[in-house]
Amino acid sequence: MSDQNSNQDKVENLIIVGGGPAGYTAALYAARAELEPLVIEGFQWGGQLQNTTDVENYPGYQEGVMGPEMMNEFRAQAERFGTRFVTDDVTDLELSDGGIQAVKVGKDVYKAKAVILSMGAEPKRLGIPGEIELGGRGVSTCGVCDGAFFKGEDVAVIGGGDSAMEDSIFVSKFAKKLTIVHRRDEFRASKIMQDRARRKENIEFLTPFVPTEFIAGDDGKIGKVRLRHADNGEERELAVGGAFIAIGHRPRAELVEGQVELNDGGYVVVEEPSTKTKLDGVFAVGDLVDHTYRQAVTAAGSGCKGALDAEWYLRDMPPDPEEHWGKNTGAIIEAVEAS
Ligand code: NAP
Repeated sequence: MSDQNSNQDKVENLIIVGGGPAGYTAALYAARAELEPLVIEGFQWGGQLQNTTDVENYPGYQEGVMGPEMMNEFRAQAERFGTRFVTDDVTDLELSDGGIQAVKVGKDVYKAKAVILSMGAEPKRLGIPGEIELGGRGVSTCGVCDGAFFKGEDVAVIGGGDSAMEDSIFVSKFAKKLTIVHRRDEFRASKIMQDRARRKENIEFLTPFVPTEFIAGDDGKIGKVRLRHADNGEERELAVGGAFIAIGHRPRAELVEGQVELNDGGYVVVEEPSTKTKLDGVFAVGDLVDHTYRQAVTAAGSGCKGALDAEWYLRDMPPDPEEHWGKNTGAIIEAVEAS
């Protein structure tokens, strides 16, 4: 699946960094605009949907679809119009304001007139036993995606922010009883979201408790959450048929820190409603930008916007490869040549 960068002098029109719904949709639009995009999709391409089972809320899939299968379809559709892929992780990015953008994958340097950043985000994890092992078997990081699978179950939602409240309100439509477990007595969530959750008859609050382990039942699915009182250390177990971890997300912006503007949460700042960053020719889309909606369909829409913005940029102010040569890409290219 991986192309080798045999021609290090080639300047692509557009490189898309990240292969989730945003990146592949950007690629589809850019490919149909004959920009011949190159997607550096990551070794574990497909983004968060690669770890999801049934997706029932993406329009057009009446019967639902498995997350990895959907990403395969997105990717194939982009490929059909000439998108090329590098199935590897970007190791460095040297972004330029209106010049040539350099994207490094190990020793290979890819250059482009424009770049779309779509590295996505990842849910924060508790880092406790059972969390990974029971993923897809009752432990979920997305209430909106998976809530409907827990009809009639007793479930727990871990967290005290707006995401935890939102997930709880949604999942409580299906669950028999839902317990919000939070490590402090105070909540970070907005008052309005807390009030909405408190008004639900089947939602209870349990504080200040820290989850220490997810324990499987006889059927191999989650059966209990072990909890520890944050102040007095008291241990207890909560019997559940599902547990949702809603302790926030972490945008995958490490590679562009210090190059584009990030907000307090570490998300890339764009000139809304466009996808432009403060650097000409650098666009950002999907969960890397969006800390609110974070759905596959909103990420895909954002990817479409990114491709259109890049297309208009390349049409109206194409960077001159000669003029910008070495302006910002010198260091990275020299480093690679020296290695
Ligand atoms: P957040 O506001 O950062 O809240 C994360 C929560 O998880 C906090 O209560 C935190 O506890 C808890 N937490 C973090 N690490 C933990 C750990 N290791 N163990 C146990 N608990 C842990 O994140 P968010 O709720 O995802 O919200 C992110 C942003 O999106 C916010 O600006 C929010 O307003 C917005 N948002 C809005 C809506 C809406 O309005 N509809 C919906 C979702 C999100 P502490 O409080 O003790 O730190």
